[in-house]
Amino acid sequence: MEDEQITTIGRCHMCKRTFSFTPASVMTIMMDPETNLPLGMTVSGAFREPAPEVTARSVKEHICSDCVKRAERLRELMDPPAPQFGTWQRGDS
Ligand SMILES: [Zn+2]
Repeated sequence: MEDEQITTIGRCHMCKRTFSFTPASVMTIMMDPETNLPLGMTVSGAFREPAPEVTARSVKEHICSDCVKRAERLRELMDPPAPQFGTWQRGDS
């Protein structure tokens, strides 16, 4: 028998479409079940550091590849790559 990738059927949290995916490569998003918004996202759409209790109650939801692509495009429009400043650390060996 050939080495097959195990696929699972799930529902996309964004478009509610049923899709099959391999658990190892599927995109997931942490959702806050109380506000029904992605973790750290406020109702106004702004991103905020999530509170520890919000992180604790958040659940992992699956996102289909179409919605991932759509989200990436959106992120590019809203958040152009910013120049990186010297926040990296050098080990003192
Ligand atoms: Zn979707």
